[in-house]
Amino acid sequence: MKELTIISGKGGTGKTSVTASLATLAPSRVVIDADVDAANLFLTLPHEVLETIPFEGGHKARIDQSLCIQCGECVDRCCFDAVTKSPGQKSPGQDAQDFVEEYLIDPVSCEGCKVCVHFCPADAITFERQICGEKYISKTDNGPMIHARLGIAEENSGLLVSQLREQARKMAKDHDIPLIITDGPPGIGCPVIASVSNADAVLIVTEPTHSGIHDMVRVKKLADQMNAAVYLCVNKADLNPDMTLNIKKFCSENAIQFAGEIPFDRDVIESMKMGQSLVQFSRGPAALAVEKVWQNVSEYMKKTMNRLL
Ligand code: SF4
Ligand code: SF4
Repeated sequence: MKELTIISGKGGTGKTSVTASLATLAPSRVVIDADVDAANLFLTLPHEVLETIPFEGGHKARIDQSLCIQCGECVDRCCFDAVTKSPGQKSPGQDAQDFVEEYLIDPVSCEGCKVCVHFCPADAITFERQICGEKYISKTDNGPMIHARLGIAEENSGLLVSQLREQARKMAKDHDIPLIITDGPPGIGCPVIASVSNADAVLIVTEPTHSGIHDMVRVKKLADQMNAAVYLCVNKADLNPDMTLNIKKFCSENAIQFAGEIPFDRDVIESMKMGQSLVQFSRGPAALAVEKVWQNVSEYMKKTMNRLL
């Protein structure tokens, strides 16, 4: 079983559109949407959700008011200013001077470091795992799709990506599926590292702009650190042919296999509106170019993997 991760270094390069087409062209694969902060692969891959699994992320501290002895230790110890002292609830018939002050933890500010739990003299602080989102196992025409939705303002996206990849590997193994394709998140942060680690190869989707080139260089470094083979394609290549030429030159000078150029094509937008991958929807120039990218990537993977073996 081989793993190919598609990354871009920045958003808006057309990475997900390319992933959806490759996932359509691959005869048998598991596809993962690892862009968990802004998951949208499911919008262009017709699918049926078979299973929903809660995602348990980090811990949050919570004070049990019945045990709290109001010592204030937690306020002093919390480095994230997550604990505050607030007026308690007024009971019916209670006088203002009888209001009980409470120590409260703001779940948004709490970083789950557990320091307050450790220092609380009354064992009044619970420390529970939080449900931060949902993971989905879906059926598509040529294999399963593993995707997720992270709750608003929730963190732990790196952990979630790792869990999705683990799930995909198990599924590929159980069903004898030879390939996992991962739609990686933009940037070079924790979730991207989680998407690329232990991948056999990455396909960088870039665009012919200065920022595209800048981000391409950053993700190439990351892929090198992870020992993944690196392939690259240029999306909307015809919008700046000189810049595309520079990118090709960079590839030949930096041991990157050039997988192809995809021209600007309005069919990309139209396919999204129809909820289909580009190659499902169109036989236009961009769709044909993506098919060529897929052929090159499969060929490179076969060669590289044989060499690795
Ligand atoms: S450290 Fe424990 S006992 Fe003291 S105020 Fe905080 S929760 Fe209450
Ligand atoms: S777990 Fe850490 S961040 Fe959260 S309230 Fe306690 S000390 Fe503050």
